[in-house]
Amino acid sequence: MGSPTLGNPQKTIEILQKYRFSFQKKFGQNFLIDTHVLDKIIRAADIGKDDMVLEIGPGIGTMTQYLAEAARKVLAVEIDKNLIPILEDTLSGYENVRILNEDILKVDIRKLVREENGGKPVKVVANLPYYITTPIIMGLFEEHVPVTSITVMVQKEVADRMQTGPGNKDYGALSLAVQYYAVPYIVANVPPNCFMPRPKVGSAVIRLTRHEKPCVEVEDERLMFDIIRASFNQRRKTLANGLKNSEKLDFSKDIIMEALECLGKGAGVRGEALTLEDFAELSNYLSKARPAAGNK
Ligand code: SAM
Repeated sequence: MGSPTLGNPQKTIEILQKYRFSFQKKFGQNFLIDTHVLDKIIRAADIGKDDMVLEIGPGIGTMTQYLAEAARKVLAVEIDKNLIPILEDTLSGYENVRILNEDILKVDIRKLVREENGGKPVKVVANLPYYITTPIIMGLFEEHVPVTSITVMVQKEVADRMQTGPGNKDYGALSLAVQYYAVPYIVANVPPNCFMPRPKVGSAVIRLTRHEKPCVEVEDERLMFDIIRASFNQRRKTLANGLKNSEKLDFSKDIIMEALECLGKGAGVRGEALTLEDFAELSNYLSKARPAAGNK
């Protein structure tokens, strides 16, 4: 195994020219060209020689080389078939890397982890394609893929949304979902000049450390997330109206008001004022009320 040969602009340009590679905007291709940022990601991901890493979107293999140095095994899933010959070249010195030419949103990741790591938890590390950040992260959590942590580069604004709490303008369904499953921590802000081509927005590395057991008790997870989505779908409406107007929920106004009262909240309360604990309590109350009130 050698030391990483990629990670700076000259090397990236060299590889791109050698293979006459052209960037595909539809795949959110912004390759990392800053070794300091790469070091920071690897450190934050806390990878050891026992770990298996799942990398989503290896690009030309820049971060993959760093991951392969640190981990026992790396499984890299890349959608763009034009990148596969490049990856086979840049990663040829690493025997612990497996490249899969697949769309991560179509892969049964649980099955893959079972086959590749005997079902033991993996660490996910990626410079994510920004157009599908949320479905990727939510997919990993909701499908209960065994992961200990997810350390990813995302749009700065999305990292802020994941980390924030009630009363903040960025607070919403994504904040609650992420915090239900994990502890978010923003590791670093990363400016556009660390990528090729430069993205139009600022980026951030965020580490999501999965809770060993859920931090709140929820009887029906699906119901809680339906309630959360309904609360934030109509931000300017009160929570009671948001729930009443939801197509997915079928609780009477009386039951909703009763539940809010039980929570110690007034009729005018908005979703953005509720903590995760509040949503759990509200959903547990409504879950019990369901046989009488019904739920679509
Ligand atoms: N990891 C590389 C780096 O840091 O230089 C590339 C990161 S680039 C932001 C995102 C990568 O994800 C690209 O290589 C892109 O082709 C790939 N990608 C986009 N959509 C994907 C999908 N649905 N499944 C797997 N890979 C995808």
